Amino acid sequence: MRMTRPRELGTDLEERFYPKRYHAYGRFLRERFGARVFRVIVDAGFTCPNRDGTKGWGGCSYCNVDSFTPKENRRSLASVREQVIEGMERARRKYGAEKFMVYFQPNTNTYSDVDTLERIYSQAVDAAPGEVVGLTIGTRPDCIDREKLEMLKRRFGHLYVSIEYGLESMRDDVLAGINRGTTHEEFVAAVELTAEYGFEVCAHTIFGLPGEAEGDWLAVADELNRLPIRHVKLHHLHVVKGSILAKRYRDEPFELFTLESYASFLGKFLARLSPEIVVQRLFGVADEEDLVAPDWGLRKSLIQRELERALELDGVVQGSG
Ligand code: SF4
Repeated sequence: MRMTRPRELGTDLEERFYPKRYHAYGRFLRERFGARVFRVIVDAGFTCPNRDGTKGWGGCSYCNVDSFTPKENRRSLASVREQVIEGMERARRKYGAEKFMVYFQPNTNTYSDVDTLERIYSQAVDAAPGEVVGLTIGTRPDCIDREKLEMLKRRFGHLYVSIEYGLESMRDDVLAGINRGTTHEEFVAAVELTAEYGFEVCAHTIFGLPGEAEGDWLAVADELNRLPIRHVKLHHLHVVKGSILAKRYRDEPFELFTLESYASFLGKFLARLSPEIVVQRLFGVADEEDLVAPDWGLRKSLIQRELERALELDGVVQGSG
């Protein structure tokens, strides 16, 4: 039976992304692997050089590591192997997952020597050979080098490997203001080096940092289009408990996106973003008990629906200019 579509499709891009208005990650995974692939988040016990004094103390001002990780994946005492097996079972049960991508998410997941990294990533892949189809590794631009990339290529080159770096802002004065401890130049260098080894790069962005305006955020789309970046995670700035920004916000509140203003910005950003770039996330997510502001008063699934509805109503299509 043919499904009736809500309206005539206008462009090739709409046809390509249907029923979404953007290049969604779920679609990318289905097309790439021909199966229902789900990510299993693993906490391998890494730390962060921006917290332990190697690069800085206190971390990035917006960061509370816990708030960026779903509750069930926080500070796990289980081994990497146990976390993978448990996560796979959960994803099978809840979503009918068939294959798995192990996602090293909390903290800086290349912040160790190369032998330790190889051992940890191997534990994940060897937990379920054939079922684990790839690794996604979240890290900082100043924690990658050729030796690590060569190890990844040699040991895991037969799998899908994606490395995620925070861009956050393209302005070094803003990066300094949030105690990021890296520059935009370092981000660009890490992206180009990683792409040289054939790995897919994901950029993590934040819109709404103090000191920036819409022009700065829209310029990020042009930069992503220019660089060898395949994926992006889009986040509005949210202030979370336990972060330096939370204290600053309490002392002197600054303007944050409303759901309406973010939807409007998102439409402009996506229209400017290359249709080849896969959008892994449309907005920032924090558990209710961690969130200070902005509170949009909706569950994550409803925010997703509202943003997608706004894109539909405004006729936005990724890459339409
Ligand atoms: S955001 Fe990442 S790099 Fe910054 S302090 Fe947190 S874990 Fe470290």
